Amino acid sequence: MIVAALPEAASPSAADAASVCVVCEALRRENNFRLDEIDATADIAAAGEAVVDSMGFCGSHALFPNSTADKDVALVRLLRDASDRVLGMLGDESRYFERLLDLFFAADRACAACKVDDQHAAQRVHRLVDDTDFSLACPPLCYAHYRNIAYALKAPALPALARAQLRTAERIGAQVGTIDSWERSGTTEKITGATLPRALAFVAGDSRTTRNHSWLDQDGDEALAQIRCRVCVEIAGAEQHWFDMVKRVAALGEDSWTVFPTCRIHVHACARFGDAWIAASTLRYAVEITRDALHAGIEALDYDKSNREIAAKSVFYRRQGAAYILGQQRKMIASLPRCPACERALVAQERGIAGVLQALRQARSGRVDEEAGGLCLKHFATVYLHTLGGETRSRLVAMQTERLRGLSARLAQIGNADDPVTGDALRQAIDMWQTAISRPEDVR
Ligand SMILES: [Zn+2]
Ligand SMILES: [Zn+2]
Ligand SMILES: [Zn+2]
Ligand SMILES: [Zn+2]
Repeated sequence: MIVAALPEAASPSAADAASVCVVCEALRRENNFRLDEIDATADIAAAGEAVVDSMGFCGSHALFPNSTADKDVALVRLLRDASDRVLGMLGDESRYFERLLDLFFAADRACAACKVDDQHAAQRVHRLVDDTDFSLACPPLCYAHYRNIAYALKAPALPALARAQLRTAERIGAQVGTIDSWERSGTTEKITGATLPRALAFVAGDSRTTRNHSWLDQDGDEALAQIRCRVCVEIAGAEQHWFDMVKRVAALGEDSWTVFPTCRIHVHACARFGDAWIAASTLRYAVEITRDALHAGIEALDYDKSNREIAAKSVFYRRQGAAYILGQQRKMIASLPRCPACERALVAQERGIAGVLQALRQARSGRVDEEAGGLCLKHFATVYLHTLGGETRSRLVAMQTERLRGLSARLAQIGNADDPVTGDALRQAIDMWQTAISRPEDVR
């Protein structure tokens, strides 16, 4: 059984969230585009186009149960609209070839819902950058939004920003650093206090604005059995395997750096789906990694500056572009070590794609679907780009077209009927329009 160590109720209160990150707090009050918030008032055609533009959704933006019949009907119409759009283009591939390539190249980085989130966050960040003198005082920021701000500020403001963020990381680090002295049996009580929710909001953002879906939040085997995309199955399996390792490592307290997560999606996953001890150990690790990275970044920034001054006096000195230097400096103060869970997911994705390609090449026509597995649209797009036209690509397109037609027909029946949505066809549609992997921007 999964014990949620940090249920939604334990998330920081509104006041607390504001004290952790001003951008998260502002975003929390906005109404963002979610699959489960599509309703009868939505402009289905526009939404369908947006969904196709991203070839669907990342794993973070899935729809799960507690939806209403009204919303389900709107969602059915939306996904049917999107499916028909893709069918239309695949049906006249030579005419839409350029458009399809454009869509498919961006598919593994885009998500219809993340795009909206990103736009909202960017607006907030720019407003904050315009209104704030960062040399005087830096507002409280979670790590993700700190990084956004760093990439929006000019060079002179960077040291002050990084130092302020380091001070916060040190303060939160000191709070979670004491967990070793906590009695393991008494951990739960400590965790439900403000310390860990605050640490989570600091390293991974507000859980209400960064909803981090992961396959881990369902019963593992059952969830895996439901996924039809062969590549998604690989990824979900790798994630499950990784989480088992986290549990083992947390219990033994060994070699955590090869296993413990550093990205916000997987930090959230551990905090929400691990037990209290897993939440505490992975969060402490994430805070410490963040603190150390900030510290190293500030030192690198100082060193870089003095090096540049010395180099400028040399006769061999070649001036570097200001934009290049700024880019390097931002990178110094705003990067974290790669997340082991994300790395595993990427490797699993590669493995899955290779498997599908092999099946496509080998399969005799008719058996392709079985051999290659039913692909989600993002992985269909990725595999499409890996095939060099010819027979393999035709098989791939034929397979996906057949599945999309079947899906569209089923959705059409639901949309027109008065009886409540059975959920089965909808579930199938969501499966095809969402992808197991987390957003690649979070993979650094
Ligand atoms: Zn934030
Ligand atoms: Zn997303
Ligand atoms: Zn997939
Ligand atoms: Zn990760």
